[in-house]
Amino acid sequence: MNYAENILGTIGQTPLVKMNTVTREIEALVLAKYETFNPGNSVKDRMALKMVEDAEKNGLLKPGGTIIEGTSGNTGMGLALVAIVKGYKMICVMSDKQSKEKMDILKAVGSEVIVCPTDVAPDDPQSYYSTSKRLAEETPNSWYVNQYDNLSNSQAHYETTGPEIWEQTDGKITHFVVGVGTGGTISGVGRYLKEKNPKIKVWGIDTYGSVFKKYHETGIFDEKEIYPYVTEGIGEDILPKNVDFSIIDGFTKVTDKDAAIYTQKLAKEEGFFLGNSAGAAAKGILQLKEHFTKDDVVVVLFHDHGSRYVGKMYNDEWMKKMGYIE
Ligand code: PMP
Repeated sequence: MNYAENILGTIGQTPLVKMNTVTREIEALVLAKYETFNPGNSVKDRMALKMVEDAEKNGLLKPGGTIIEGTSGNTGMGLALVAIVKGYKMICVMSDKQSKEKMDILKAVGSEVIVCPTDVAPDDPQSYYSTSKRLAEETPNSWYVNQYDNLSNSQAHYETTGPEIWEQTDGKITHFVVGVGTGGTISGVGRYLKEKNPKIKVWGIDTYGSVFKKYHETGIFDEKEIYPYVTEGIGEDILPKNVDFSIIDGFTKVTDKDAAIYTQKLAKEEGFFLGNSAGAAAKGILQLKEHFTKDDVVVVLFHDHGSRYVGKMYNDEWMKKMGYIE
């Protein structure tokens, strides 16, 4: 018999799928690391499991405890699955910019959801960073995950996602391209791949309204770069500890409009029903095309599933209202 002991045993070992249409103007082989095959439908299951296991080992999370996290949804989903199997209570703190689907999905897997305003500074008491921290202080036997600065996040990708990509490409990967939020994925995968072959180039996808690209290029944390944006899952107004800028070769910024249009294109032209950051990453690879030659093997990682965006990027009325399509 061949079965997993519980749902957590199905995390990882996701497929690598060749892209055939959306990136056809690129001569290199472009392969998608297709993370929606994880049980919570996103890459975040990997780091959720690792962060909880490390917190247990370090005595930060005790039996019957409460896990608290500020999350745009995917990390919450991963943590909720881990909490169910391991017997913890889960509280997710979200910003009101996130889709209603994401909130409903978290409630469906037994998480309590607390919604905070988006348009406040990170140090404002109402922000989701501050609210998560406060709740963790007020709730007995609780543990605040802090995926931004918790280095078990990038370590999960160093231990699982990176080795999988290396093995699946037979060590032939030349470029790794991925959206950056907490930085866990790019830093963990990038560090593993560069240890295997320092010539591999690592590119981050950033959004307009986020500080990463400018900080990487100049070392300046420029508050003028910060303004509200629509793209979900990537870009930040802080510098998370999980972003290891030293292993990143460069960033490219994708507009909200392009990210939304390419989210639809991936579904309609590749049959990839994926989230908004996948659209941003697909457009990002095209923006980077002069960096690739025909013998290159480019791996792009797609973080999450399209079901969470049916009311937005997959809804033509919403797309028209935003001015993204006619
Ligand atoms: N895409 C989506 C949909 C996400 O939820 C996240 C996590 N915020 C990312 C991309 C970025 O991944 P990471 O946090 O590992 O940088």
